[in-house]
Amino acid sequence: LSAHERLGATSHHPRWAVAYKYPPTRKSTKIKNITVHVGRTGKLTPIAVLETVHLAGTEVSRASLHNEDEVARKDVRVGDTVLVEKAGEIIPQVVKVIKVKRTGNEKKFEMPKKCPVCGSEAKRFGDEVARKCINAQCPAQVKQRLEHWGHRNAMNIKGLGPKLLDKLVEQGKVHKISEIYTLSKKELAHIERMGQKSAQNLLEEIEESKDQGLARVLYGLGIDYVGQHIARVLTEHYNSIEDIMNASQQELERIEEIGGKIAESIVSFLKEEKNRKLIKDLQSHGVRMQEKEQQRAQFLEGKKFVFTGALDNYTRNEASEVIREFGGRVTSSVSGETDYVVVGNRPGSKLEEAKNQDTHILVEEEFYQMIENEELPE
Ligand SMILES: [Zn+2]
Repeated sequence: LSAHERLGATSHHPRWAVAYKYPPTRKSTKIKNITVHVGRTGKLTPIAVLETVHLAGTEVSRASLHNEDEVARKDVRVGDTVLVEKAGEIIPQVVKVIKVKRTGNEKKFEMPKKCPVCGSEAKRFGDEVARKCINAQCPAQVKQRLEHWGHRNAMNIKGLGPKLLDKLVEQGKVHKISEIYTLSKKELAHIERMGQKSAQNLLEEIEESKDQGLARVLYGLGIDYVGQHIARVLTEHYNSIEDIMNASQQELERIEEIGGKIAESIVSFLKEEKNRKLIKDLQSHGVRMQEKEQQRAQFLEGKKFVFTGALDNYTRNEASEVIREFGGRVTSSVSGETDYVVVGNRPGSKLEEAKNQDTHILVEEEFYQMIENEELPE
């Protein structure tokens, strides 16, 4: 992996681009311990727990060791004095071991073969360097997937903090993202120290999250290499998650900014049965996975239309679809609430009603013009 790929383009600016703006700052410190973090995808990451050192303006007490191969290559041991580096916004890393400082009491690190959180097997797949917990229900993974889904840059569910998630997952109330959409106020209020009021607020946030749109959904799903920026790039080319599911890896790669690694990750995520099921479940709970056509939607927003007679260029269904795309509504009968009656060939009694109600009448040509110009008629 190149440094670029390893870091991923997970934020608005690709991290690697920012990294070169600042000179790296290095300092030596001691490794007190090496712990293992289980991430959203089940990936086990060895973390060096450091004697706190002041580095590039922050107190640093942890550094990533990336994976077991990296630990072996650098021969990092507990008790070692190491050089740590912080560059740009990247989390601190161990650059190298200062071996002359070894006393002989350092302890070699063994990557656990079992997940330190759930005890399931932790496996390396193919030629991947990462070891992963194979249990998709692993509480560490579930919590982080949920936390990511609720992140302010994803579905923005503020009330879904780490403490509440700990409880929800540990009490077995939530096993996957879609289950937050079935939580009841009663269930939430039962959770220790969560009152009726905050339960209500959280439910409202969860409800609102359904309408955050495709880009945030794509980011929130936590697909490898799909950060906010790539999620937005995808929605500039595709209007719905189905469209992306139907895209081949080659097709995705033709999009500027989407390289082979990203395209492969998207395709394999969307191909996997459990991810498809998750997407389906989310949709059935009302999570919107289409982009709104915002510009277009505005101009007929709130307008009610009635059709009478046949149109030359559209079937009734097509014409109704066009109205809806632009944010309007089509009803079957004329009432005081009708804004426009569109009159085609051989109109029925609705034309008379429109005249009686003093409703704005559009002949076919005016209707086409309105759609074409995206402007309401005078
Ligand atoms: Zn696990």
